[in-house]
Amino acid sequence: MLPQPLKNLIEHFSKLPGIGQRTATRLAFFLLNQPPDDLKDFAQALMELKTKTKVCQNCFNLSSETLCAICSDKKRNPLIICVVEDILDIIPLERTKQFGGLYHVLGGLISPTEGLTPDKLKIKELIARIKKHPEQVEIILAFNPTVEGDATALYLERILKTTNAKVSRLARGLSAGGDLEYTDEATLINALKNRK
Ligand SMILES: [Zn+2]
Repeated sequence: MLPQPLKNLIEHFSKLPGIGQRTATRLAFFLLNQPPDDLKDFAQALMELKTKTKVCQNCFNLSSETLCAICSDKKRNPLIICVVEDILDIIPLERTKQFGGLYHVLGGLISPTEGLTPDKLKIKELIARIKKHPEQVEIILAFNPTVEGDATALYLERILKTTNAKVSRLARGLSAGGDLEYTDEATLINALKNRK
């Protein structure tokens, strides 16, 4: 009964995480009532999402250039590298405004059951970054306190012994099984300060 373009849009929305058929329908009808220019901007943003988004060649954060805004910021200390599971973990850490180093996005955590072995993560690249500096680099492992997070931290602590890096972990204060992405700022600031 609905026109095909509306049906198409509902189908796309219902594929998004957390969006059911009802919400998808509401969103589609909402858009139908928006001014054509707004819809054009929206479509443009969608088109450019892939074509104009790159991955930073240094830290694997998202970027619109070869280096991301954080890596190209001269005020940040390249000798402190905070290692995170994925790009979304950078957002809460940046929000604390307490971290002046750079990041390294691993692209996952070690999880043999999901086929995520160390060679699938950006570990070689991390070691190369550490070795690029003659000075000692400080590595802060900032993973969610889960089984995979702990396993990955232990693995990295072991493998980074082959470098002269000083390795610390974000202090517990983060609840077990908790998610960095949803941790409040005060807890994160404490976890950063009390790293060990
Ligand atoms: Zn970067």
